[in-house]
Amino acid sequence: MITDEIMPLTLPDTQNADGLSQSQDSQPVPIIWGRLCPNNLTLKTMEMIKDEYTMGRSDSCDICFTKDNIKPKWLGVISKVHCKIIKERIINGNNDDIVVYLEDTSQNGTFVNKVLVGKGKRILLESNDIISLAQPVFAVYVFMSTKAFEGNDLPPELRCKYAVSRKLGSGACGEVKMVFSKIGCKRFAMKSIVKRTFSSGPRNLLNDPEKIMNEVKILKTLKHPCIIKMEEIVDTPRTVYIVLELMEGGELFDRIKGTNGLPEPITKIFFYQMVLAVRYLHERGITHRDLKPENILLADNAEVTLIKISDFGLSKLVDAETMMKTFCGTPLYVAPEILKTHGRGAYTSQVDIWSLGIILYACLSSAMPFSINDQNKGLQEQILSGRFCFPHSKFGKITYRAKELIKRMLTVDPKKRATINQVLLDPWLKDRSMQDVVHDLMRNKLGENFGPLIDLGAKYNNNKLNEIETCKTVIKRPRFK
Ligand code: ADP
Ligand code: MG
Repeated sequence: MITDEIMPLTLPDTQNADGLSQSQDSQPVPIIWGRLCPNNLTLKTMEMIKDEYTMGRSDSCDICFTKDNIKPKWLGVISKVHCKIIKERIINGNNDDIVVYLEDTSQNGTFVNKVLVGKGKRILLESNDIISLAQPVFAVYVFMSTKAFEGNDLPPELRCKYAVSRKLGSGACGEVKMVFSKIGCKRFAMKSIVKRTFSSGPRNLLNDPEKIMNEVKILKTLKHPCIIKMEEIVDTPRTVYIVLELMEGGELFDRIKGTNGLPEPITKIFFYQMVLAVRYLHERGITHRDLKPENILLADNAEVTLIKISDFGLSKLVDAETMMKTFCGTPLYVAPEILKTHGRGAYTSQVDIWSLGIILYACLSSAMPFSINDQNKGLQEQILSGRFCFPHSKFGKITYRAKELIKRMLTVDPKKRATINQVLLDPWLKDRSMQDVVHDLMRNKLGENFGPLIDLGAKYNNNKLNEIETCKTVIKRPRFK
């Protein structure tokens, strides 16, 4: 049986190791010792109070897979009882503790964090472990022990709403973790940024609550399908927590990495979305300032998918600190006018166009126009001169128009560089089929429902690409990891 509703939480500090606590009238109250959080919207959260749980095709399983909650192709490879999750009590001196195992009882295998357990074998299950059935990619649940699930270090206003799950990524400002809303079990990403103390770093906007809230007001009003939506932000003396809509396809950076460049039609679909998002920001007087493939997130793992720009505005919040980090690191995406003034001079939103030019170059070739590998010239010198080339090995098959657009964006003088509106009108982006794909992806995402987007993505991946003449070669290529 799968629970339809989330049961009220019992506080962990009333918990005994045997999973029971005594209420005031001495009736034992079941204690939730773990949760199975679904990786798919049709499965439901399972709150674990019994000593043993089974999952599989059989009706008798606690978690029963049917054609209503998973796709038929997966149902066919699941055993009647595919695996068991067992809680055991261990007595350690005067302390009682519990351990949780997963036992693989399947024909086709159960995987924990993509590692096969093996029939008849047990593995210790820890909080945030991902359970997959039959194949590592078919992840069904994330196991969470109650303690981790509670997110004990969160401020109370977030703790009562969200349960913290696994880490999604980390960046210059802090960690990003997946969280589940306790009601509805909807998934989000939560970013926590630890503030600098006044003595150990420059005073930045994060240490100024009034400025944070002013900035947040602006960020919260932004509504564009290609910009990460900020759900809420909580400012505590030590940390700023930001709850964001979840992007499940990872970073654009990881899509490019290990390829010889993305196919041009796919790049165009991604790039057009970036341009629309940046135009939206620029129209509102916001400059991103930190555009790079790590800050472009993908909705899912489909080849054709919605992208969203993240980390915008935050660069404004962290201000001096972000700029400093950029200079400490390698300024691969930084415009020449910023380098010239070491980040202290006045510059315009045209800096984003430069970064977009580098991103477009990187998407098409998996290489950088200005690189630290150049034997003759330093990176800064190359950027300031604005001289770069399109090596035949990387750009031989790339269209003339794509290369022309890159040149218009990687123009050293920001006044001569194309503006975002000019980029939008560039001949390379005047491609009705591509625009239709993007507009459909975006329209769908404007609604809150995630389901149809996945269907839509699948539709394009299976059919629509065939209709786009330029995309014909794409579907033959291997999927990017
Ligand atoms: P930073 O300012 O520290 O660079 P980011 O917002 O870029 O922080 O987040 C760091 C990483 O965390 C991203 O590169 C990405 O891998 C992951 N991440 C951030 N936001 C989300 C999100 N909304 N959904 C999924 N993963 C995210
Ligand atoms: Mg980032």
